[in-house]
Amino acid sequence: MPDCLFCRIAAGAIPADIVHADDEFVAFRDISPRAPVHVLVIPRRHIPSPADLADVEADLAGRLLVTAARVAREAGLDAAGYRWVLNCGPDGGQTVPHLHLHVLGGRALGWPPG
Ligand code: 5GP
Ligand code: ZN
Repeated sequence: MPDCLFCRIAAGAIPADIVHADDEFVAFRDISPRAPVHVLVIPRRHIPSPADLADVEADLAGRLLVTAARVAREAGLDAAGYRWVLNCGPDGGQTVPHLHLHVLGGRALGWPPG
């Protein structure tokens, strides 16, 4: 296992509040939520950042979005709406170098981001 926080969460070696898990993806609540619902959807495979999606098969990226939409629906966010965020690299504000899609909802979210 890479020395990676989110790989360890996916493997169950570090506890997390998991809301969805399947063979390919795990979704868990952010430890420092920025909205009433704040879930991170990650591939079990160690893909460092959104930029690295350029080197993986498109189907994985598609399944990530399908999984995130199901997570949002199961959280009851469809009617009011929600936001997906993929931070990439230093300027994008990425702090954990394992691809993760933020699902944020449960309140009106400001735009544009700071
Ligand atoms: P980023 O800033 O890289 O887009 O997002 C990383 C997110 O991971 C942050 O929102 C941060 O709160 C969350 N995070 C960092 N460490 C942990 C942890 O140990 N457990 C959980 N559940 N979330 C974490
Ligand atoms: Zn990882």
